[in-house]
Amino acid sequence: MQKPNERLKGQTAIVTGSSSGIGAAVALALGRDGANVVVNYNSSDEGAQEIAKQINDDNLCGEAIVVKCDVSKEEDVQNMFKQTIDKFGTVDILVANAGLQKDAPLHEMTLEDWQLVIDVNLTGQFLCAREALREFMRRGMRPEVSKSLGKIIHMSSVHQIIPWAGHTNYAASKGGLVMLMESICQEYAPLKVRCNSIAPGAIKTPINKEAWESDEALEKLNKLIPYKRIGVPDDIGSATAWLASDESEYINGTTLYVDGGMTCYPGFTTNG
Ligand code: NAP
Repeated sequence: MQKPNERLKGQTAIVTGSSSGIGAAVALALGRDGANVVVNYNSSDEGAQEIAKQINDDNLCGEAIVVKCDVSKEEDVQNMFKQTIDKFGTVDILVANAGLQKDAPLHEMTLEDWQLVIDVNLTGQFLCAREALREFMRRGMRPEVSKSLGKIIHMSSVHQIIPWAGHTNYAASKGGLVMLMESICQEYAPLKVRCNSIAPGAIKTPINKEAWESDEALEKLNKLIPYKRIGVPDDIGSATAWLASDESEYINGTTLYVDGGMTCYPGFTTNG
């Protein structure tokens, strides 16, 4: 772990889908900055326990607990918030990160695969954001830990604006997140809630293994990245910790692209 910072000390964060990949790096980054962290998983108990252990083993970090919850299930989400509040008293930061892909050409996509991706990637983020807002409003301001009533960070993707053939359910779920996030900002910013998204480019995690596991695949991928390297989960962890802190207090209703320039259309570098 890098040197800790105390900017999230005394705050509690729920990070959904933090048993693996980006969510795991986010949980570690928030813990390193002093937050208590709820490490959420759906099926990978072992991965979640390992991340919580890393946070708990370091005395300079906040405390971590592991909570199993399928973010697409209302009762599970309500139970995760209840367990968090029972343990830590409240929730200050939600990082709605859990997500998955079920890829297929659209004419072959089953309703089941369409629905699963929308349920986890979009409805799951709605359910978690709704519980977070309820808790922020119940609890009221805590000026001793933050200038905001609460922070919600949606893990989106560059595919909230870049269409993605063969991944239509995924792109539609991320496109929906833009309006979810911006509408939450418009509705709750007057209460001092901050709601933003992070849109990662290509980050090396299990979700996109086929895009980086061979040299050929990596070379092809790098053509889409002006910065010429694949992202790593810590790139997103550090951006998220900053966005959750008062250092970014005036940022609200915004998507932060963390993509090595992928959204700058590198295909047009030599005149298209
Ligand atoms: P990953 O390594 O496959 O991790 C996905 C995480 O989501 C796992 O912890 C998984 O937990 C959890 N999850 C899946 N379904 C869940 C459910 N129903 N309820 C609760 N948790 C669930 O993938 P990743 O790359 O880190 O992706 C994390 C987020 O970043 C996703 O929203 C993804 O769309 C976004 N993203 C990733 C990239 C990239 O290049 N990697 C780029 C843009 C955006 P279990 O294993 O326990 O089920």
